[in-house]
Amino acid sequence: MPPMSEGIMVILSSPSGAGKTTLVKLISERKGFVTSISHTTRTPRSNEVDGKDYYFVNKEKFEEMIKNNEFLEYAKVFNNFYGTTKSNIFDELSKGNNVIFDIDWQGTNQIISQKLKNKLLTFFILPPSREELFKRLSNRDMKDKLIAEERMKQFDRDVLHWKDYNYVIINNDLEVCYRQISEHIDCEFRNKKSDYEIDSIKKHIKKLTS
Ligand code: 5GP
Repeated sequence: MPPMSEGIMVILSSPSGAGKTTLVKLISERKGFVTSISHTTRTPRSNEVDGKDYYFVNKEKFEEMIKNNEFLEYAKVFNNFYGTTKSNIFDELSKGNNVIFDIDWQGTNQIISQKLKNKLLTFFILPPSREELFKRLSNRDMKDKLIAEERMKQFDRDVLHWKDYNYVIINNDLEVCYRQISEHIDCEFRNKKSDYEIDSIKKHIKKLTS
């Protein structure tokens, strides 16, 4: 990857269960991106580590950080607060490091509207079908089917935000999906326009929401 004076920012968003977390990990490992670690008021899952997956804080601490203007963006998702702090991100970008974010559409819109000097590339990841999404959501440690159903309803609301993003990618096969994202990023590095088939994406979204 060619060295740049300032790093670029890449955002991956998706409705819950589309496989975005694994993609973020691959982009970080294979393309050398620094992963932005968010603060959240959510309770840690059994496999999560404080300072690696998230910085887990209570609501009082989060509110104090809002007051102190520490967040580049923050949002309430599924009744919990999530936010990206400015300090680390700006530090990494100014050192020329590229940063990858796993944040929702609310945070993405907040970052877009700030028109930062750094290049910004946004991806919205979609599942291959409703059936597959429901299967993925039901297979998590939240065994409760009611939660999966609740997240399906949330999916119907979240998917509408695909239009806010530069690229929509369907995660049918992890490696294929990774390659597509990687190619778009490489084009951005080379200031080249990348190929993108919007009509098939529109058809897929219609199928997912009908
Ligand atoms: P989870 O609780 O499953 O880890 O994440 C729930 C949702 O919150 C995901 O859609 C994730 O992208 C989003 N999220 C995680 N961190 C942040 C953040 O710092 N800001 C915003 N706006 N959303 C976040």
